[in-house]
Amino acid sequence: MKAFIAAAALVAVHAITVTALPGQGMAISYAFFFLAGSLAIGASLHAWRRSGAQRDGRWLLLTASLVLWAVGMLLSARQYYWLANDNPAPGDSMFLYVLYVLPVLVAVSSAPVPARKRWALSIDLVLASLLGILFYVHTFSIVSMQGAVGSTQENDIVRMLDIENFALAIAALLRYLATDRADDHYFFRSVAAFFSTYALVVFYYNHYVALGDHPEFGTAWDVLLVIPFLALVLTASARQSQRHWHPSVYLVRFVQSASPTFLALSVLGLGLMVIRDMPVLGIVGAVAAVLGIGLRSSLAQVDLVAEEHRLAQRRDALEGLVFTDSLTGLANRRALDERLLREWHRPGQREPIALLMIDLDFFKEYNDRYGHLAGDDCLRTVASALFARCLRAGDFLARYGGEEFAVIAPATRLADAVALADNLRRQVEEQRIIHPLSPYGHMTVSVGVATLQPHATGGPLDLLNAADHALYQAKHEGRNRTGCIRDERVRETSTSDA
Ligand code: GH3
Ligand code: MG
Ligand code: MG
Repeated sequence: MKAFIAAAALVAVHAITVTALPGQGMAISYAFFFLAGSLAIGASLHAWRRSGAQRDGRWLLLTASLVLWAVGMLLSARQYYWLANDNPAPGDSMFLYVLYVLPVLVAVSSAPVPARKRWALSIDLVLASLLGILFYVHTFSIVSMQGAVGSTQENDIVRMLDIENFALAIAALLRYLATDRADDHYFFRSVAAFFSTYALVVFYYNHYVALGDHPEFGTAWDVLLVIPFLALVLTASARQSQRHWHPSVYLVRFVQSASPTFLALSVLGLGLMVIRDMPVLGIVGAVAAVLGIGLRSSLAQVDLVAEEHRLAQRRDALEGLVFTDSLTGLANRRALDERLLREWHRPGQREPIALLMIDLDFFKEYNDRYGHLAGDDCLRTVASALFARCLRAGDFLARYGGEEFAVIAPATRLADAVALADNLRRQVEEQRIIHPLSPYGHMTVSVGVATLQPHATGGPLDLLNAADHALYQAKHEGRNRTGCIRDERVRETSTSDA
């Protein structure tokens, strides 16, 4: 609020002094223009310094624009102070008033920070240089170094400034309205505040003051030209405000993706403007603009595909973790449940599914004797012993939980499943893991085997229950053995079960 009052006071003092001292009007106005311009440069540099560890270079581009404008104004002032004439708009200053938008146009066309790439900046640099040349050619195709002479030239140059100022104001407002980042919001708020007020006041000033009743500086109307700079100072120095609206994500993405075309479109537009007088330069401009847009979107596409690939890899890695048991590296219970469900509902499934439940014997005692860390080691050894051999392609081994493992063996009859279970059991025994508290003297496992023909009335839970029951049987009968339960629906000859 204090800053706003100070800015209003500055405007009032300007208006009053110019009105009170009409003889010194031009000198007073120049002094206020330079004061306002310097304040704006200071505010922009201050914002750059405040923009965090990774300084936001866009504030430097804005500063460069303001400096170009100030140099243009210096060239105007030179007419008055050194060359003792009243021409406030010689050709060179006019060129700078046109050129000054260039750095900020690069900023308005820039991608959001994380996506700012070196190659994109290089393309922007080429387009910006070309735009500078086109500005130069176009400005001096309208005016000479003396400035605009005659109403046709004056009208042409004013129209060019109108197009430039309003185009930039609209682009800056779009970026301000469609942003989801605090730094973008802060920067484009200042740029939009400056360029929208600048476009409006310069439009009014050029059409109704300079081309109207007061062709020279030095009247109270000059106050208008100070306002945009003060708007910039106020917005750049105010704390980053909380935004009161939230643009749709789609709009934000669209404006962010489209903004690199602002620069190329300016080159295209200006190229088409000069094509009649300078066909080669005009065509070069138009072709460069089209190539610039094409190249930028192709390169962005390449980045996008690379990013997609990276994300897919990460997703696969994460999915792997979700289905892996961290202790043994085997598939986990979740993976087993999924696999069982898939096997159960596999189309054309005619053979029974076998499920083996493998449980370490007297494992609590092993833990008690050697501690949990040794218990973990034992689980890992058993896991790799089970994994190493005996499983056929299509069999699926998982850690079911605690000291229990499970094997899904699709299309397997009970006899084959029992053989597989005995094989696995022997495999564990052969590890000879010393277990003094077991009657067998080493680590053994009991296995429960069940087979079930998938059917419409039941589900995989039936198979799990049956295998669990078989395991209980094996435990009950003394451990280190295989118990089995056969699905009554599975038609097998009893000899094949033996
Ligand atoms: P049984 O022969 O009847 O299977 O007896 P058991 O001692 O093996 O079975 P019980 O269910 O009484 O005990 C299982 C033990 O397994 C208890 C628990 O501390 C241990 N256990 C479960 N998960 C882990 C693990 O991840 N690491 C270790 N070290 N121990 C585990
Ligand atoms: Mg158990
Ligand atoms: Mg056990």
